[in-house]
Amino acid sequence: MQAEKAKALKSILDNSAAARQRLNEFTARMFRTRGGRIGSGMGAVIEALWGFFLNQILVEQSGHDIELAWMYGHEYNDFACIRRGAEWDPNTRRGELLRVEVKSMVASADESKAHFDRLKKELISTDLLVVFLWDWIQVPESTASRFVRVSPQVKDYFIGKALDVAELRDALHKERGGSFVQAGQCPDGCSSDACAHVGEPLNASGKRERLSGPKSARVSQSVSYAANFGGLVRMLKCSSTKARSVFRKICQQKETAWEFVSFIHRNLPDEEENQYSKEEWSKMALVLGLHDPPREKSELVQRVRAVGARYRAALRSVS
Ligand SMILES: [Zn+2]
Repeated sequence: MQAEKAKALKSILDNSAAARQRLNEFTARMFRTRGGRIGSGMGAVIEALWGFFLNQILVEQSGHDIELAWMYGHEYNDFACIRRGAEWDPNTRRGELLRVEVKSMVASADESKAHFDRLKKELISTDLLVVFLWDWIQVPESTASRFVRVSPQVKDYFIGKALDVAELRDALHKERGGSFVQAGQCPDGCSSDACAHVGEPLNASGKRERLSGPKSARVSQSVSYAANFGGLVRMLKCSSTKARSVFRKICQQKETAWEFVSFIHRNLPDEEENQYSKEEWSKMALVLGLHDPPREKSELVQRVRAVGARYRAALRSVS
């Protein structure tokens, strides 16, 4: 069973880039428009299309006996990877090998609204998280046109084990003063065996982060829950030295966590600049053998980045 799950995982990872390419080719052909709306629900369309194209590829190739099923009646945009030609029960997960949670972010939006707030206990080790960064991109016209037409295109994406990202997210949540409901210590006073809130995140003020958290921990009369937990960009922010060191340790130990961080940082360079202190950027300049590094932080960061991709490895080794 474990070997079968690992094989399914590999099939999805191996074909995710090809699925993205088909998606981009399809949207460039079909979804062409003047304008291009943000907050249009296009992100959800992209998330779904990727699953359909991945399925198409899995069916075309021999050696794959799996397919992606689109979860129904579920609050997340999710796929279940199931055995082809077998019974499937999403309630018991019978016939399932793993699940894939798909999120999307608009590259030009100020702040991503996407959240990865699935609890650790809801994930199994082979479950995947996929995040697409997309935007409206100008498409070439077949005939000369004086108007610009755009199409939604996935510019970059992350795919990796969801649990590894959840580990980083949860550790930094605690560093912000947040906590998770423990058995026998639920704010609602549930008895240990009847508490459905174990593992639910509470913020530093003890308020619930998710609607499914303890009722007595709602934020206020008018606000039901905080909804900051798992914000794809926000969850990486560190405000203390201790938080920074926790961040670095997990990034060094978990390849997937580092890949997720790298995905966010290469697309949002300001987040990367702020993640590391000026002293750390100086240390990196030294590691990279740069002479006379600038004193001013943003100039220093520019110089470090100018060495090319290898500066990322140096960043990861900073502790
Ligand atoms: Zn409870």
